[in-house]
Amino acid sequence: MTGVLVPLGPDATAELRPATREVLTLARDLGEVTVLAHTTPTEELLAELGAYGVTRVLVSDLPEPASAAAVAAQATSSAVTEAGCAVVLFTSTFTTKEIAAHTAHRLGAGLLIDVGGVHLDGGRLVGGKRAFGGTWESVCEVRTDVAVATVAPNAVIARPAEQPTTPQVLGAPAQIDVPPRLELLERSVADHSGDTRPSLAEAAIVVSGGRGTFGDFEPVEELADALGAALGTTRDCVEEGWLPAEAMVGQTGTTVAPRVYIGAGVSGAPHHIGGMAGAGTVIAVNIDDEAPLVQLADFAVIGDLSTVLADAVEALREHGG
Ligand SMILES: Cc1cc2nc3c(=O)[nH]c(=O)nc-3n(C[C@H](O)[C@H](O)[C@H](O)COP(=O)(O)OP(=O)(O)OC[C@H]3O[C@@H](n4cnc5c(N)ncnc54)[C@H](O)[C@@H]3O)c2cc1C
Repeated sequence: MTGVLVPLGPDATAELRPATREVLTLARDLGEVTVLAHTTPTEELLAELGAYGVTRVLVSDLPEPASAAAVAAQATSSAVTEAGCAVVLFTSTFTTKEIAAHTAHRLGAGLLIDVGGVHLDGGRLVGGKRAFGGTWESVCEVRTDVAVATVAPNAVIARPAEQPTTPQVLGAPAQIDVPPRLELLERSVADHSGDTRPSLAEAAIVVSGGRGTFGDFEPVEELADALGAALGTTRDCVEEGWLPAEAMVGQTGTTVAPRVYIGAGVSGAPHHIGGMAGAGTVIAVNIDDEAPLVQLADFAVIGDLSTVLADAVEALREHGG
């Protein structure tokens, strides 16, 4: 049976992130799952890991700068050897993608970034992803003995294991050499404790408003909140100063792959589509039935967004969300 290592990463919190639950769900289908943590897991975290079928937790402290990919990757590659794993599955954040690249380099392993699904074929890891702005479906097989992959958020619906486990916690001290000249000068951690919406990159539903809002995002925000969705936008709206750059979806903004993407007053320029074409179901709201996003969408509502979105919010409230 293939051993799969799922690193929680240096930024892990005491609670499992939704994206990590999804990766554990996929990992379980590949083989026996070992988790790598950098702090001793709490009872609650251990219970949740057990619910997802994790059999072992390796705990490896990281020296400072712990957030540096070159440091975390040494602990990860050492854990792969220690646990005898043939597959390493990460979530897909900027931090974990960088650690995955360093880990693959250290292990001489093939690397897949942002895959939407993985399976084993004759013992080799195979992953699929959309390329060229979502216009091509590509499938890659890793032919090295160890395979490293990062899994795009919302690739699967997270589901606990049929047979919960009691994970064994083992210390896994690793020999980590902080590379010379690597010095942490400053680290600013964004405070998301007050956030009421999910993060744009990992949300299961994204509601974006474009220039068609003319700067009034109230209907877009109300729909996002009624759906428990993240708020997105286009570059033009960011340049207008209507929303901050963190909300921008697209080739030069955040790439999203939610289950549902709603674009209201968004024309669907190639730069925008390149960042959301991996969405499961696309819904467009636009006054122009020839807008590219309307053409690409699975469903489109032709009409003024303020009326259409207000009606949608009312209908959701009537049906209890
Ligand atoms: C190098 C480069 C990189 C870029 N990167 C990005 C990127 O990462 N992300 C990104 O988004 N853009 C990016 N852009 C900009 C991109 O090319 C488009 O200009 C932008 O996406 C268009 O934004 P929009 O859809 O909000 O506006 P528009 O194209 O102006 O579309 C507005 C839409 O609203 C509709 N509308 C108007 N009134 C209403 C109404 N009352 N109700 C409903 N619909 C209405 C209109 O019919 C229209 O379809 C980039 C551009 C360049 C040059």
